[in-house]
Amino acid sequence: MQIQEHVKLSTAAAVIALPVLKKDVWIPLAASVLIDVDHYLWHAVTHRTLSLRAAIRYFGQADPPQRPEARLLHHPIVLGALLFLGVRMRSRLFLLILSGLLFHVSLDVIHTSQMRGLKRSLSEQAGFTCPVCGKYDEALQLHTLHFARNIFDRYNSRHFVVLCATCHEKAHASRGVGLPRPHDAEQLTKIG
Ligand SMILES: [Zn+2]
Ligand SMILES: [Zn+2]
Ligand SMILES: [Zn+2]
Repeated sequence: MQIQEHVKLSTAAAVIALPVLKKDVWIPLAASVLIDVDHYLWHAVTHRTLSLRAAIRYFGQADPPQRPEARLLHHPIVLGALLFLGVRMRSRLFLLILSGLLFHVSLDVIHTSQMRGLKRSLSEQAGFTCPVCGKYDEALQLHTLHFARNIFDRYNSRHFVVLCATCHEKAHASRGVGLPRPHDAEQLTKIG
């Protein structure tokens, strides 16, 4: 899930938790937003660059490699260790940090399962054939045509298309020029 989205949803959760947590509310909020720093750190170490832009480019590729090492802070062992320490030391701070991390990881899990479901159903619908070049491919990749602002519309299948790896790379290189965008026509008629 994108970082802006995490910021938005974590802030909403923080507003709800405000009456209970009061001035401590920023702790889980910060944890929930900062957890993704593990991606950056992993990139900095493995690619030997501190450039944030390079990291963003790396994770913004058409089909970025999914490496568990890049998600260290998301790992159940790390979360479990924090829980253990928090309970052991009776540390409210640790438990507040943990609640922020867990909130973030739950959102990531929901996002991943939604995207996986979309990829499966759209691939089946397309008969495992890339709609752009017509190549038969059992491992089509999910590409986002339109990032819906409304979270309830986010995972609507009309905002996505499945493409073969080559066409997916091209789509990202050309920022989606030449791709079918059926929902655009639909939106235009709605406005008009
Ligand atoms: Zn994350
Ligand atoms: Zn293709
Ligand atoms: Zn894509």
